Formats: sequence, C-alpha cells, structure tokens
Amino acid sequence: MTSSTLLRKLREICGANFLLKDRASLFAYESDALTLFRSKPLCVALPGTHEELIQCVCALHEAKVPFAARGAGTGLSGGALVPPGGVILALSRLNRILEIHPEEGWALVEPGVVNATLSREAKQYGLQFAPDPASQSVCTVGGNAAENSGGPHCFLHGMTTQHVQFLEVILPNGEVETWGSPTSSEDDLDLRGFFLGSEGSVAIASKLGLRLIPLPQDTQTWLTAYTSMEDACCTVSEIVAEGLQPAAMEVMDKQAIQAVEASVYRCGLPTEAAAVLLVELEGHPSVLLRDSPSIEKILNKRTPLSFEKAQSKKERIALWKGRKGAGGALGRLAPDSYVMDGVVPRSKLAEIMAYVLEVQSETGLPVANLFHAGDGNIHPHFSYDARSPEQVQLVEEAGAKILKRCLELGGSLSGEHGIGLEKEALLDLQFDEATLSFMERMRSVFNPEDTLNPGKGLPLGKACAEAFHRHRGSSQPQ
Ligand SMILES: Cc1cc2nc3c(=O)[nH]c(=O)nc-3n(C[C@H](O)[C@H](O)[C@H](O)COP(=O)(O)OP(=O)(O)OC[C@H]3O[C@@H](n4cnc5c(N)ncnc54)[C@H](O)[C@@H]3O)c2cc1C
Repeated sequence: MTSSTLLRKLREICGANFLLKDRASLFAYESDALTLFRSKPLCVALPGTHEELIQCVCALHEAKVPFAARGAGTGLSGGALVPPGGVILALSRLNRILEIHPEEGWALVEPGVVNATLSREAKQYGLQFAPDPASQSVCTVGGNAAENSGGPHCFLHGMTTQHVQFLEVILPNGEVETWGSPTSSEDDLDLRGFFLGSEGSVAIASKLGLRLIPLPQDTQTWLTAYTSMEDACCTVSEIVAEGLQPAAMEVMDKQAIQAVEASVYRCGLPTEAAAVLLVELEGHPSVLLRDSPSIEKILNKRTPLSFEKAQSKKERIALWKGRKGAGGALGRLAPDSYVMDGVVPRSKLAEIMAYVLEVQSETGLPVANLFHAGDGNIHPHFSYDARSPEQVQLVEEAGAKILKRCLELGGSLSGEHGIGLEKEALLDLQFDEATLSFMERMRSVFNPEDTLNPGKGLPLGKACAEAFHRHRGSSQPQ
C-alpha cells in the first residue's frame, strides 16, 4: 500500500479533521517530554471511537507501516515516537469513562482518560484511582498502564499494575482480546501483567478495567527542612526501618525548592534549606494517632531547620501542588530538560545524591533533584539547551554515568519512566543476554512483524537505531 493510499484510508476512518499531516501539527508529535529524541511521523491519526481505532490498526497492519499509540505525550523516555514514515495513533479523543461500579470498586474507561479526571469522577463515590504521577493532570491512563507508572502515593498503594484488573487490547494485526478479568485477579498467563510496563510494544489498550480504592479517612502531612540532603535521605530510611508505612515520602533539593518558590506553584517552601522532605500518613484516625508521634520523632531527630504539619486541607493541597508542579517550575530554567529515572536501594539514596552532584559539577549544567524517596526512585532533572551539541552530549553522558552508578549500587535503570529509546543502550548492563532474548521472544509472539512501537524498551535493532535521530542540535549523525 502506498503512503497516499494509507493516508486516504486513515482520513476516511477518522475524518479529515482528525488526520494531521501538516508540518506545524506534526511538530508537536515529534517527541514526548524527553526532547533528546525526535522523529517526524508520516501523520497522526486521532480515532474518535473504539471501532475507528480498530480500523486504523487494521489499515496500518495491511500497509505494514510502523505505528505507536500516544496518550498525552508526557512520557520521559522517548516512548511515543515512530521512525520516519510511521504513524502515531493519538488516543486523546478516546476519553470516556464508560462505567463506574462503586460497589465493586472499579471503572471501565477508554485509554485517553486523563488520570486526574478519573479520580475526580470517582470522588463522588468516596473512591479514587491511586496511581498519581506528578503529571496526573494531563497524562492518560493508557500511558500509565503502558509505562506501569508510579507517583508519590504509590509508596503505599503500589504502581499502576496493582490497579489494573483487566484490559481490552488490540493486537498489532487488529485482533481484539481481553487480558485479565473483571471478576478475578487470576489469569493463567497473566497477560494483563505482561502488558503493564510493556511500553506500548505488544498491544494497544483500548479499554481498561481500573481498580478504585476508598479515599483515605484521614491524612496527616509534614514538611521538614534539612541543612543537608544526607539528613533528608537518612530520615527516609529511618522511618521505614522503624516499621512505619507512610503513604508518600518525597524529597526536593535546594534547586527544586527555589524553582517552585519562584513559580506559580509556590507554597512557602524554605528556600534556605538544602532539602525538604514531604511525608504523608493516611488511613483510619486511630492509625494516625498511633503512628504520628513516632514519625514526628524521627523527622526531628536530625535537628531540622524547620518542621511543620499541614494545618488544613488547603495547606496540604498547596504543598502537593508545589511538589507536583516542581517539574514544570524547573522548565523555566532552560529550553530543554532531561528528567532522569533510576532506582537505588533506599539506604543508598544519600550516596547516589552525592554522586549526582559530582557528575553535575563535571557538566556545569544545572541539576535539580525531586524524587520518590520512599521507593528509592531518583529523578535528577538536568536543564540544558538542546540547540547546543556540547550540552546534549554532556547531559547524555551524565545520564549514562548516573544510571550505571544506580546499577552498581544494586538498583535498576528505571523506576517508572520506562526504557523507551533513552536507556536501551544500557539494558545489557542490567540483564544478561538470555533474559533479553527471552523478553524479545515474548514480545514477538504478539508483535511478530515489530510494527507496533518498534525499538522501544529493548535493545534497538540496527535499522531502528539508525531510524531514530536525536535532537537536531545533537552531535549524532542526522
Ligand atoms: C512533569 C512530569 C512529571 C511526571 N511525573 C511522573 C511520575 O510521578 N511518575 C511516573 O511514573 N511518571 C511520571 N511522568 C512520566 C509520564 O507522565 C508517565 O510515563 C505517563 O504515564 C505517560 O502517560 P501519557 O499519556 O503521557 O503517555 P505517552 O507519553 O503518550 O506514552 C507513553 C508510552 O505509552 C504508550 N501508550 C500510550 N497509550 C497507550 C495505550 N492505550 N496502549 C498501549 N500503549 C500506550 C506509548 O506508545 C508510549 O510508549 C512525568 C512526566 C512529566 C512531564
């Protein structure tokens, strides 16, 4: 099938308004939130119904053209990109909440439903969708499932995989299957679990059955400021070592604090602190009564600069707005950001933070740290200008060094942003050849022609490596 025939078919399916192929429109789809990677698609199709989505996949299968699903494009590992000539299926119009079953605690939704919208709707039943990425006001549940996303409160509630009961998926050849079940958490092969975190490379989730959990009965939030990052990190380990289980434990360093306080997200963070630790406890009032004194004692052990408890819902919301807006606030520092994602054992947080500073001083580029400390999940945030090939090279090298050190410390290449295009070259440092080849074989059972989101999450084949170009300013060949 020629490109023009494919374009005509997709236009017939979606309608002329929902097939984008002009330069300006495509520009927005050339990258996700990791602008280190860019690749211009042939077109972007925006199916408006489930049937249109299936028809699009069938047309792309027939044309043997590479394609990928895209939710909101907030991914941070270069996931929702296709090689040149490929097609993006943008699922933002598939944003209906189809059913809510409050008595059974689940909802059936389309993949383009925005994460926070689902929780907002569920609130009237006293329920919420627990995964709460900092991007939750825009990212979609389809993207959350594909990346197995986390968020501050996943420390207590678990990652997205713990909150997806079943999925209806469209395989790359257009066949529709249901993985998992609304009535049982058991599934012989657990294909539901296989999908979660597969980075959109085995199937497209067209409907999701999502668990909804009760809203907490009570909440207590503390903000403690320390004179060193080490104090903040060690406090996190001490809280867990004491057997306490807060819902969230988040750390922000001085650079992140200052960026928040200079932005619309300002919430009164102490700008003189080297680091702040935000701890939240939730549950039955009796649990809060029991655990709060122990948590407060540990928070105060290292003579903090300041210690405060949110006195009202308004204060608590403001603190979370500051934490979740920090990524956006840092965006003002430079034209581009490289937000990394690595994991270390919690007890190694102070060590990896010291190493991040060492690497930062070699690059001379600003770095800020804001992270899910409870999970040992770090997110160094480098600010740079992608028009400078030198800066691109510096951040890429810095990223690789930090991720390698995470592995040396017994951690992992990714906590929640996925491998995407960003980390595929490092995968063989974490997994042996047999494991990688097993994963590849598993993927090829469902995606035998490698047309669905090729080259993501596993080491790139040579053709793919050549197909995906870095940003124009990069020293990489174009
Ligand atoms: C400021 C900021 C803060 C963030 N904070 C967090 C955080 O706290 N925790 C966290 O985990 N992540 C975070 N992220 C990363 C990102 O928001 C998550 O990975 C999110 O789940 C991506 O959702 P999306 O809809 O934007 O997906 P996209 O970026 O559009 O796609 C991501 C991947 O999912 C695939 N995909 C999308 N929809 C489907 C579908 N229906 N079926 C199959 N595959 C699909 C795509 O092909 C791609 O590979 C943050 C990002 C930003 C910019």
